[in-house]
Amino acid sequence: MSEQGEVFERPDTVAVDPPLKRHHTIEPFAFLTSVKENEKKHNVLLISNQPFKINLKAIWVHCGLVVCSDGGANRLFDSFSNDQEREDYLPSYIVGDFDSLRDNVKDFYQSKGVKIIPQYGQYSNDFQKSIRCVQLHFSLLEQGRQWPYIDDDDGLKEIWENEMGGTSDIQIHIYALSVIGGRFDQSVQSINQLYILHQTEPNLHLFFITNDDLIFLLYKGVNYVTYPDRTVFCKDTSSPPLCGLLPLGNKSVVLNSFGFRYDIKNWLTEMMGQVSSSNRVVGEKGFIVECSEDITMNIELNL
Ligand code: MG
Repeated sequence: MSEQGEVFERPDTVAVDPPLKRHHTIEPFAFLTSVKENEKKHNVLLISNQPFKINLKAIWVHCGLVVCSDGGANRLFDSFSNDQEREDYLPSYIVGDFDSLRDNVKDFYQSKGVKIIPQYGQYSNDFQKSIRCVQLHFSLLEQGRQWPYIDDDDGLKEIWENEMGGTSDIQIHIYALSVIGGRFDQSVQSINQLYILHQTEPNLHLFFITNDDLIFLLYKGVNYVTYPDRTVFCKDTSSPPLCGLLPLGNKSVVLNSFGFRYDIKNWLTEMMGQVSSSNRVVGEKGFIVECSEDITMNIELNL
């Protein structure tokens, strides 16, 4: 393997068949395409407290569960002009330390039967608390159990670890809206969580939706990333959607790809070394990335 690897330039559109060898199939845009109940049942929309410009209603119909993380409930509330509309888009849970949740928003959703879960403990952030809530929701549902008493300091974590053993094999796709963006320390912590959660709770598949892109993890091994066609996530068809392969974990990564403007072979990437940014997705219905370690990917969203 050469230190630099090789790069191949591709045309605007390339047909990429699923790999023959064992691979991870990733459908990052299921939050825009899932239609059947069993497809969308385990799609979770998690709304956090940053401005977003995405059309919530367009995502909502493809997700089986909606959780607001603290002030994310304010964002949800404010995105509608009247209570009648708000009632059509009720989250299932509002979770967090509630340093941001407005009283009128809390009162409204509480009166509509939304489960409000205060978690005042400061050893995890609102995003992590919301993740616990999602795991417990599906685990309790599978066991046919009601919610037990939740201590309002760190109850979700205690129930998850002590009663559920801290693991689940229910495959859950979490689409986290506006978690990344805003404060840089929080954004870096979210990327840190992206890597850590895949190690500790591999049943979770986490996707961050920003105003410009979708950010997710490609897993060590062969990944087949697939979608019905590129217009699902990029309406502007004048050029292929932009993307990046970002080695933000603690190891350097060797990459092989098929389906990008600049495909790479035996290409070593690491921070303080070479990084594939401003690449483009040319795979018509998907692309393949083989990586020696987990690696962060972002794809342009233009909806
Ligand atoms: Mg908070």
